[in-house]
Amino acid sequence: MSDLELIIQRLGLRGHRVTGSRRRVLDALLAAPAHFTVDDVLQRADGVGRATVFRTMKLLQDLNVVCRVMMEDGSRHYRISARGHHHHLVCRSCGRVEDFAICDVSALVQELSSSTEYEIEGHWLEVYGRCQSCRTTQPLATAGSESNGS
Ligand SMILES: [Zn+2]
Ligand SMILES: [Zn+2]
Ligand SMILES: [Zn+2]
Repeated sequence: MSDLELIIQRLGLRGHRVTGSRRRVLDALLAAPAHFTVDDVLQRADGVGRATVFRTMKLLQDLNVVCRVMMEDGSRHYRISARGHHHHLVCRSCGRVEDFAICDVSALVQELSSSTEYEIEGHWLEVYGRCQSCRTTQPLATAGSESNGS
């Protein structure tokens, strides 16, 4: 099943119709690069207003077909992903994003929940670094030393 078919199927299962403007947003998402901003979608979705794009993106996140990625500079990107709960590995050099599903924070969440009596509803974790191909093609001048942030 293509991404488009999957998304349309999930919308349908929840009783959402694929209106003309939703369809234009979907086409824009699927034509966009591996991860993209709302502005990228706006530029590609002719004649669809910002509010509609935002609402559609929100709906697609609720349906678990689009996920948010927080880039290192704080900008919010989106990515098509039909996985359930997962996190991201973000390369600081080339900007590539990979999903990873290993989530080992449940012990921490339980601990927090009992020590603070919060009802924990979610968490956010992005991991930044340099991907293997960036490490091979552009070795750091200070090779071997830990990144000291910036
Ligand atoms: Zn993701
Ligand atoms: Zn890279
Ligand atoms: Zn997690």
